[in-house]
Amino acid sequence: MKPDHRQTLTIAGAGLAGALLAALLARAGWQVEVFEKRADPREVGYEGGRSINLALAERGLHALRQAGLHDAVLAQAVMMRGRMVHFADGRTALQRYGKDDSEAIWSVHRGRLNLLLLDAAQAAGAKLHFHARLDHVDFDAQRARFIDDRDGSRREHAFDMLIGADGAGSALRGAMHAVAPLGERFESLGHGYKELEIPPATDGGFRIEANALHIWPRGRYMCIALPNTERTFTVTLFLPQHAGQGAPGFDALPDATSARTLFEYDFADALANIPGFDADWSAHPVGQLATLYLDRWHLDGRAVLLGDAAHAMVPFHGQGMNCAFEDCVALARHIDDADDFAAAFAAFEAERLPNARAIQQMALENYLEMRDRVDDADYLLQRDLERLLAIRHPERFVPRYSMVSFRRVPYATALARGRVQRELLIEATRGCLRIEDVDLAAADAMAMARLEPLEELPLPGETFQSTTG
Ligand SMILES: Cc1cc2nc3c(=O)[nH]c(=O)nc-3n(C[C@H](O)[C@H](O)[C@H](O)COP(=O)(O)OP(=O)(O)OC[C@H]3O[C@@H](n4cnc5c(N)ncnc54)[C@H](O)[C@@H]3O)c2cc1C
Repeated sequence: MKPDHRQTLTIAGAGLAGALLAALLARAGWQVEVFEKRADPREVGYEGGRSINLALAERGLHALRQAGLHDAVLAQAVMMRGRMVHFADGRTALQRYGKDDSEAIWSVHRGRLNLLLLDAAQAAGAKLHFHARLDHVDFDAQRARFIDDRDGSRREHAFDMLIGADGAGSALRGAMHAVAPLGERFESLGHGYKELEIPPATDGGFRIEANALHIWPRGRYMCIALPNTERTFTVTLFLPQHAGQGAPGFDALPDATSARTLFEYDFADALANIPGFDADWSAHPVGQLATLYLDRWHLDGRAVLLGDAAHAMVPFHGQGMNCAFEDCVALARHIDDADDFAAAFAAFEAERLPNARAIQQMALENYLEMRDRVDDADYLLQRDLERLLAIRHPERFVPRYSMVSFRRVPYATALARGRVQRELLIEATRGCLRIEDVDLAAADAMAMARLEPLEELPLPGETFQSTTG
């Protein structure tokens, strides 16, 4: 029987995905209740924990457009035109992401974005409950138990269906798995991260180029920095957990003094702009990085997972949130379209799971590219040819980064076409040192023969329109 709008959709987690989904569903006329374990950040301020700022790209922007939030979010974002590479010898070079400023990504503050999304969800009619940690689910009785961690008090909630937007450590996933195994697999990257801050310059401006994502690639490890509207940068060091094979590791940096020695050697120009280095190093924890794979995301029509709860990934493509936002649009559409929740969840999983797998893989591959390849001569030559072919065959040769960040073609399509394009670039530049050495006519012929025109429309999510509003 088709779900009707009197049924309540219950969401666990009011982070980025939970709050956006609540806004989309409530705007579409559904009764929505959201339970979040933390305090209301609009009252007590945003408690960090994860990365401070995030790269927002077209997929995320598209989802925000559906919720009427695109302009409000961009008003608080800093444009990043490309990667500013800081070479080991102190040189820097900007590698543009796209053809011009219409193809850029945006640095947004996680906390402020969450506040905007919560306001939008509430304004659309969603009921938000804070200090409510999902603790136990009885799927047969369709009852969930939430705990207030301040005093341990419990509340019971009867649900029609549950949506898990409760992040990588999802309690709903655990409860579903206990009923029917989901095929869960966590793969640790073996690398962690630590955040530091570049404050504004003494004149109040940015200390380094504002409109770029800065990268200090150093082989098996790297630093990056994303700008904030306060004219600060959040610097993130990505490093193996354990030292070895000539690379340092977090285990060999027990204190700020040893970390400072690493920075003096490898990231001297960054260190010069981090006056609070010792305090930041001592105060900020080392975050862990892993990929979460599941074979199933739903329990018939009673529960479904999305965002990090379904497919946490390493952050090197800047797509975890973007992918979670794309999930939200897709799930809202399937709930509106399907005959019942089981059909909606099955269709959602069939559409999104292969694409989540694809972006998880591309995110892992991008770590190698960012830390090890962006300063490599072969890579730079292939990139030059890639840009040329993208101009000569705009409908066929779309760089993989562009397909992921500036288009909404399914991630799985971007992965598959990206492989073909990479082989073409390797073949066409073999034996060449400069772009002038490349046989362009041969490269053109390969592009024409191996790449069909990239079909843009219709795309999943393009046509999500509420049936009621
Ligand atoms: C270092 C780093 C950098 C990143 N950079 C980027 C980037 O540049 N671009 C990008 O797109 N993505 C990035 N990501 C990924 C992005 O942070 C995640 O993909 C995104 O936060 C997922 O959103 P979510 O809502 O699914 O989960 P979360 O943001 O984790 O939200 C989960 C929510 O559920 C709540 N919760 C947890 N357990 C319970 C419970 N039992 N009951 C009730 N509530 C609960 C939590 O308090 C939280 O509010 C990065 C991640 C990291 C670690």
